[in-house]
Amino acid sequence: MDRESSVFLHQPSVPGEDRYLSLALVNTRFAVSHGQVDLLEDAEAAHLWLVRHELLPDRIPFNGRQSGRLRALREGLRALYEAHGAGTLPPATALDILNAALAAAPPTPRLAWAADGPRRADVPDRGNPAAAALSLLADDATELLTGADAALLTGCAADGCPRWFLRSHGARRWCTTKCGNRVRAARAYAARKADSP
Ligand SMILES: [Zn+2]
Repeated sequence: MDRESSVFLHQPSVPGEDRYLSLALVNTRFAVSHGQVDLLEDAEAAHLWLVRHELLPDRIPFNGRQSGRLRALREGLRALYEAHGAGTLPPATALDILNAALAAAPPTPRLAWAADGPRRADVPDRGNPAAAALSLLADDATELLTGADAALLTGCAADGCPRWFLRSHGARRWCTTKCGNRVRAARAYAARKADSP
């Protein structure tokens, strides 16, 4: 098994990532017990991530400059999610990064009409597949931030965990049971320490 797939397999899935790829993008940087993991650390890793999420055909190359843009978009999205969570205005640079990604390769709206009736279909910019992938991710974040699910967007409350997720029920504060267990274990340890003479 290669190094990348073992990282993917050991990453617990976070609620909401299956519905919003922008959430999965933000969560490509996370902490493990022995340090930080970045699933987009170089062009090769970023290419693999985009292909696995069906945002880019495998045969389309993805260079270092483009992976830098993808990482910048990730940090921009994180700043926007944090501003949303805190109820504050986001940094102007974060908005600029998202809007630049949207504008770089906007999909073309089309009316499709099959047996089940008419529906809107947005066709990605095929002339610029790498920019189109970033545009799709920016569009996904725009949908998330402006739709009903925005009220569920939550940053993990576990110390040092940078992940964001969609709360499945009101009280949930941790991205995964792993984070919840870590916090409970730390609390129990602190309580035992306080009790001991
Ligand atoms: Zn967490």
